[in-house]
Amino acid sequence: MGLIVQKFGGTSVANLDRIRHVAKRVTKTYDQGNDVVVILSAMSGTTDNLIQMAHEISDAPDKREMDVLLSTGEQTTVALLAMTLISMNYPAKSLLGFQAEVLTSSKSGSARIVNIGAGRIKNLLKERNIVVIAGFQGYDSEGNITTLGRGGSDTSAVAIASALNADKCEIYTDVDGIYTTDPNICKKAKKLEKISYDEMLEMASLGAKVLQIRSVEFAKKYNVPVHVRSSFNEEEGTMVVNEDSDMERLVVSGITYNNNEARITLSKVPDQPGIASKIFSPIAKAGIMVDMIIQNTRAGGLTDLTFTVPKTDFKQALEIETKVAEEIGAENVLGDENIVKVSVIGVGMKNHSGVASKMFNVLAEENINIMMISTSEIRISCVIEEKYAELAVRVLHTAFGLDKESTTHR
Ligand code: ASP
Ligand code: MG
Repeated sequence: MGLIVQKFGGTSVANLDRIRHVAKRVTKTYDQGNDVVVILSAMSGTTDNLIQMAHEISDAPDKREMDVLLSTGEQTTVALLAMTLISMNYPAKSLLGFQAEVLTSSKSGSARIVNIGAGRIKNLLKERNIVVIAGFQGYDSEGNITTLGRGGSDTSAVAIASALNADKCEIYTDVDGIYTTDPNICKKAKKLEKISYDEMLEMASLGAKVLQIRSVEFAKKYNVPVHVRSSFNEEEGTMVVNEDSDMERLVVSGITYNNNEARITLSKVPDQPGIASKIFSPIAKAGIMVDMIIQNTRAGGLTDLTFTVPKTDFKQALEIETKVAEEIGAENVLGDENIVKVSVIGVGMKNHSGVASKMFNVLAEENINIMMISTSEIRISCVIEEKYAELAVRVLHTAFGLDKESTTHR
């Protein structure tokens, strides 16, 4: 018996049948004697539809009203679930963000949770209510409705679990958990029993789309263990938890790829103080995020500089650098959108040498050229030609002992 927070994503509440199914899950937990707080997303597709409608009115719809509009998706699902529970003779109450006292910053569309006054939720729980809370929304100090950014109901769930000091935070979604790599491109991908917050953060920023990144940051900061699992079966999912010594036995726990970046090279740049600043300041001013940077020195006081930017900003970045190249007397600017960043991730790397060289060897054996390399304490990334993405993921997955059936712990 305890206090359990259960969050259900859009596909889990996509229609009334699914909502009934959610109600069964929730009441099962409740009947075991637990206090249950449920956080919901909007029905899948709803938020997208609302955004589209707003953009039919204006290219830049008023931000305050956008929050009012988008919060209705979750308002609908919490009411429907609470009604369903009540019709099954369970005491249930829905709460919108402001009623659950989810106080946020004022940044429309990407507000941050500042504080959760859990008083009202606790009172409702004392009376043995099932409390159903709208995810993704809150209110600011001026009483405006705010939203937390796409996928934000994950963060609502973790924050509310933390504020209530819940025993469990379960995120029910349409996948079974976190996999060693994308099962769509690698049949041998397997579900991880657990993964550390830091690994999850690396995985998320590199393309695993299961949890909103901010929810993982939040879980890490407040040490909330998160159980990611499917709402369509009873199987255990993946625990996202603090790093433990057990995890270090497995050197690599996941392989990811990200093809949302493009590469820009300025060649034959005069190698002088202030050059990097001249190249990157205008990019920063335009609000473009640079990921990897490489500088090679040539003979004759010249250098080549290569970096990556999100594909969505590629054209703009290329235009900016074409101007910069003229100003600083660089020979030319080259762009390449057909790249992919493949990464191996694992906390076990901290205590093992040779992971990088193994990765390079494996890619070399397949004749895959590495264009750029970057590392963190628990990640090694290589930029390669996009057409090799799937092959690279598969061979690395095998080489690092992650294939299903093989139980390689080293
Ligand atoms: N409904 C919001 C979205 O689609 C929030 C969420 O589902 O987490 O992004
Ligand atoms: Mg989601």
